[in-house]
Amino acid sequence: MISLMNKVLLLATRNQDKKKEIQQILQDLSIKIVNLEDIQELPEVIEDGTTFAENAIKKASQTAALSGYICLADDSGLQVDALDGQPGIYSARFAGEEADDKKNNEKLLTMLKGIIPENRTARFVCSVAISDPAGNYRVVTGKCEGRIEMEPRGTGGFGYDPLFIPQGESRSFAELSPEVKNSISHRAKALQMARSVIEEFF
Ligand code: IMP
Repeated sequence: MISLMNKVLLLATRNQDKKKEIQQILQDLSIKIVNLEDIQELPEVIEDGTTFAENAIKKASQTAALSGYICLADDSGLQVDALDGQPGIYSARFAGEEADDKKNNEKLLTMLKGIIPENRTARFVCSVAISDPAGNYRVVTGKCEGRIEMEPRGTGGFGYDPLFIPQGESRSFAELSPEVKNSISHRAKALQMARSVIEEFF
Protein backbone atom coordinates (compact mmCIF):
# COMPACT_ATOMS: atom_id res chain seq x y z
CA MET A 1 0.00 0.00 0.00
CA ILE A 2 1.27 3.51 -0.84
CA SER A 3 2.04 5.51 2.29
CA LEU A 4 0.40 8.92 2.18
CA MET A 5 1.91 9.96 5.54
CA ASN A 6 3.21 13.54 5.62
CA LYS A 7 1.10 14.43 2.59
CA VAL A 8 -1.10 17.49 2.94
CA LEU A 9 -4.56 17.86 1.40
CA LEU A 10 -5.98 21.39 1.51
CA LEU A 11 -9.77 21.67 1.80
CA ALA A 12 -11.00 24.70 -0.13
CA THR A 13 -13.54 25.64 2.55
CA ARG A 14 -13.87 27.76 5.69
CA ASN A 15 -16.97 25.78 6.75
CA GLN A 16 -15.90 24.00 9.97
CA ASP A 17 -18.89 21.60 9.83
CA LYS A 18 -17.85 20.38 6.37
CA LYS A 19 -14.21 20.13 7.49
CA LYS A 20 -15.21 17.95 10.48
CA GLU A 21 -17.30 15.63 8.29
CA ILE A 22 -14.62 15.32 5.60
CA GLN A 23 -11.92 14.62 8.21
CA GLN A 24 -14.06 11.92 9.82
CA ILE A 25 -14.93 10.23 6.51
CA LEU A 26 -11.29 10.26 5.30
CA GLN A 27 -9.70 9.57 8.71
CA ASP A 28 -8.16 6.24 7.69
CA LEU A 29 -6.17 7.84 4.82
CA SER A 30 -2.72 8.74 6.16
CA ILE A 31 -2.83 12.34 5.01
CA LYS A 32 -2.89 15.58 6.93
CA ILE A 33 -6.09 17.47 6.15
CA VAL A 34 -5.99 21.25 6.58
CA ASN A 35 -8.40 23.97 5.48
CA LEU A 36 -8.22 27.62 4.49
CA GLU A 37 -8.13 28.70 8.16
CA ASP A 38 -4.81 26.85 8.54
CA ILE A 39 -2.84 28.59 5.73
CA GLN A 40 -2.05 32.10 4.58
CA GLU A 41 -4.88 34.36 3.36
CA LEU A 42 -6.09 33.53 -0.17
CA PRO A 43 -8.50 35.55 -2.33
CA GLU A 44 -12.14 34.35 -2.19
CA VAL A 45 -13.21 32.12 -5.13
CA ILE A 46 -16.41 33.39 -6.80
CA GLU A 47 -18.93 30.51 -7.00
CA ASP A 48 -20.61 31.44 -10.29
CA GLY A 49 -20.93 27.97 -11.84
CA THR A 50 -24.34 26.63 -12.87
CA THR A 51 -23.87 23.15 -11.34
CA PHE A 52 -22.42 21.69 -8.13
CA ALA A 53 -19.64 20.07 -10.21
CA GLU A 54 -18.66 23.34 -11.93
CA ASN A 55 -18.43 25.16 -8.60
CA ALA A 56 -16.41 22.36 -6.98
CA ILE A 57 -13.93 22.28 -9.90
CA LYS A 58 -13.54 26.06 -9.83
CA LYS A 59 -12.93 26.14 -6.05
CA ALA A 60 -10.47 23.21 -6.13
CA SER A 61 -8.45 24.32 -9.15
CA GLN A 62 -8.16 28.01 -8.23
CA THR A 63 -7.24 27.21 -4.62
CA ALA A 64 -4.65 24.64 -5.73
CA ALA A 65 -3.08 27.10 -8.21
CA LEU A 66 -2.93 29.90 -5.62
CA SER A 67 -1.70 27.80 -2.69
CA GLY A 68 0.55 25.20 -4.34
CA TYR A 69 -1.24 22.37 -2.46
CA ILE A 70 -3.33 19.50 -3.81
CA CYS A 71 -6.86 20.71 -3.03
CA LEU A 72 -10.24 19.16 -2.41
CA ALA A 73 -13.40 21.24 -2.79
CA ASP A 74 -16.97 20.22 -2.01
CA ASP A 75 -20.01 21.98 -3.44
CA SER A 76 -23.27 20.71 -2.10
CA GLY A 77 -26.90 21.50 -1.54
CA LEU A 78 -30.50 20.38 -1.36
CA GLN A 79 -32.84 19.73 -4.31
CA VAL A 80 -36.57 19.68 -3.49
CA ASP A 81 -38.78 18.13 -6.19
CA ALA A 82 -41.91 20.18 -5.36
CA LEU A 83 -39.78 23.34 -5.86
CA ASP A 84 -38.33 22.21 -9.21
CA GLY A 85 -34.95 21.46 -7.62
CA GLN A 86 -34.63 24.61 -5.49
CA PRO A 87 -32.66 25.68 -3.49
CA GLY A 88 -29.98 23.69 -5.41
CA ILE A 89 -26.69 25.53 -5.88
CA TYR A 90 -28.18 28.46 -3.92
CA SER A 91 -28.73 26.36 -0.75
CA ALA A 92 -26.34 28.38 1.43
CA ARG A 93 -27.94 31.73 0.57
CA PHE A 94 -31.56 30.61 -0.07
CA ALA A 95 -33.01 33.27 2.25
CA GLY A 96 -30.56 35.99 1.07
CA GLU A 97 -26.85 36.87 1.26
CA GLU A 98 -27.03 37.34 5.07
CA ALA A 99 -29.08 34.18 5.57
CA ASP A 100 -28.27 31.64 8.28
CA ASP A 101 -29.37 28.01 8.63
CA LYS A 102 -32.46 28.96 10.66
CA LYS A 103 -33.69 31.50 8.08
CA ASN A 104 -33.03 29.09 5.20
CA ASN A 105 -34.99 26.34 6.96
CA GLU A 106 -37.87 28.72 7.71
CA LYS A 107 -38.03 29.81 4.07
CA LEU A 108 -38.07 26.20 2.89
CA LEU A 109 -40.91 25.26 5.26
CA THR A 110 -42.92 28.32 4.20
CA MET A 111 -42.53 27.44 0.51
CA LEU A 112 -43.62 23.85 1.21
CA LYS A 113 -46.70 24.84 3.24
CA GLY A 114 -49.67 22.70 2.18
CA ILE A 115 -47.52 20.08 0.41
CA ILE A 116 -48.36 16.60 1.72
CA PRO A 117 -45.56 14.27 2.99
CA GLU A 118 -45.67 12.03 -0.13
CA ASN A 119 -44.85 15.04 -2.32
CA ARG A 120 -41.98 16.36 -0.17
CA THR A 121 -39.29 14.23 -1.81
CA ALA A 122 -35.80 15.74 -1.97
CA ARG A 123 -32.12 14.87 -2.16
CA PHE A 124 -28.82 16.21 -0.97
CA VAL A 125 -26.17 16.38 -3.70
CA CYS A 126 -22.42 16.75 -3.19
CA SER A 127 -19.77 17.21 -5.87
CA VAL A 128 -16.18 16.76 -4.77
CA ALA A 129 -13.35 18.00 -6.99
CA ILE A 130 -9.65 17.28 -6.46
CA SER A 131 -7.10 19.42 -8.27
CA ASP A 132 -3.34 19.81 -8.31
CA PRO A 133 -1.60 23.19 -8.72
CA ALA A 134 -1.02 22.53 -12.45
CA GLY A 135 -4.79 22.37 -13.03
CA ASN A 136 -5.26 18.60 -13.42
CA TYR A 137 -8.58 17.73 -11.79
CA ARG A 138 -11.18 15.02 -11.25
CA VAL A 139 -14.75 15.43 -10.01
CA VAL A 140 -17.26 12.95 -8.53
CA THR A 141 -20.85 13.40 -7.33
CA GLY A 142 -22.77 11.65 -4.53
CA LYS A 143 -26.50 11.85 -3.75
CA CYS A 144 -28.68 11.00 -0.76
CA GLU A 145 -32.43 10.63 -1.38
CA GLY A 146 -35.01 11.51 1.26
CA ARG A 147 -37.86 13.87 2.13
CA ILE A 148 -38.50 17.16 3.90
CA GLU A 149 -40.14 16.94 7.33
CA MET A 150 -43.06 19.21 8.36
CA GLU A 151 -40.98 20.85 11.14
CA PRO A 152 -37.33 20.87 12.33
CA ARG A 153 -36.20 17.85 14.38
CA GLY A 154 -32.92 17.31 16.23
CA THR A 155 -29.91 19.42 17.11
CA GLY A 156 -26.97 17.72 15.35
CA GLY A 157 -25.35 18.47 12.00
CA PHE A 158 -25.79 21.76 10.17
CA GLY A 159 -27.72 23.46 7.35
CA TYR A 160 -30.95 21.69 6.40
CA ASP A 161 -30.19 18.58 8.54
CA PRO A 162 -33.13 19.11 10.96
CA LEU A 163 -35.59 19.02 8.01
CA PHE A 164 -34.14 16.10 6.02
CA ILE A 165 -35.22 12.48 6.60
CA PRO A 166 -33.01 10.13 4.55
CA GLN A 167 -34.73 7.25 2.75
CA GLY A 168 -35.19 4.18 4.99
CA GLU A 169 -34.90 6.27 8.20
CA SER A 170 -37.51 7.76 10.52
CA ARG A 171 -35.07 10.25 12.05
CA SER A 172 -33.72 13.46 10.52
CA PHE A 173 -30.02 13.92 9.71
CA ALA A 174 -29.90 16.18 12.80
CA GLU A 175 -31.18 13.32 15.00
CA LEU A 176 -28.71 10.75 13.67
CA SER A 177 -25.22 10.41 15.16
CA PRO A 178 -22.37 11.89 13.06
CA GLU A 179 -21.14 8.32 12.44
CA VAL A 180 -24.49 7.29 10.94
CA LYS A 181 -24.93 10.49 8.90
CA ASN A 182 -21.35 10.16 7.63
CA SER A 183 -21.96 6.60 6.47
CA ILE A 184 -25.01 7.39 4.28
CA SER A 185 -24.77 11.06 3.32
CA HIS A 186 -24.22 12.61 -0.12
CA ARG A 187 -20.82 13.84 1.14
CA ALA A 188 -19.86 10.34 2.35
CA LYS A 189 -20.78 8.83 -1.02
CA ALA A 190 -18.83 11.44 -2.98
CA LEU A 191 -15.80 11.11 -0.69
CA GLN A 192 -15.80 7.31 -0.92
CA MET A 193 -15.58 7.73 -4.72
CA ALA A 194 -12.90 10.43 -4.28
CA ARG A 195 -10.73 8.22 -2.05
CA SER A 196 -8.92 6.42 -4.88
CA VAL A 197 -8.57 9.71 -6.80
CA ILE A 198 -6.86 11.30 -3.77
CA GLU A 199 -4.48 8.34 -3.56
CA GLU A 200 -3.68 8.72 -7.29
CA PHE A 201 -2.93 12.43 -6.90
CA PHE A 202 -0.44 11.76 -4.09
P1 IMP B 1 -21.76 25.41 -0.32
O1 IMP B 1 -20.85 25.79 0.82
O2 IMP B 1 -21.87 26.43 -1.39
O3 IMP B 1 -21.44 24.03 -0.83
O4 IMP B 1 -23.21 25.36 0.32
C1 IMP B 1 -23.73 24.22 0.85
C2 IMP B 1 -25.05 24.52 1.56
O5 IMP B 1 -25.92 23.41 1.29
C3 IMP B 1 -24.87 24.57 3.07
O6 IMP B 1 -24.71 25.88 3.54
C4 IMP B 1 -26.17 23.95 3.57
O7 IMP B 1 -27.18 24.91 3.60
C5 IMP B 1 -26.50 22.94 2.48
N1 IMP B 1 -25.91 21.62 2.79
C6 IMP B 1 -24.89 21.00 2.13
N2 IMP B 1 -24.59 19.83 2.71
C7 IMP B 1 -25.42 19.71 3.76
C8 IMP B 1 -25.55 18.72 4.77
O8 IMP B 1 -24.84 17.70 4.85
N3 IMP B 1 -26.53 18.95 5.68
C9 IMP B 1 -27.32 20.05 5.65
N4 IMP B 1 -27.21 21.02 4.77
C10 IMP B 1 -26.26 20.85 3.81
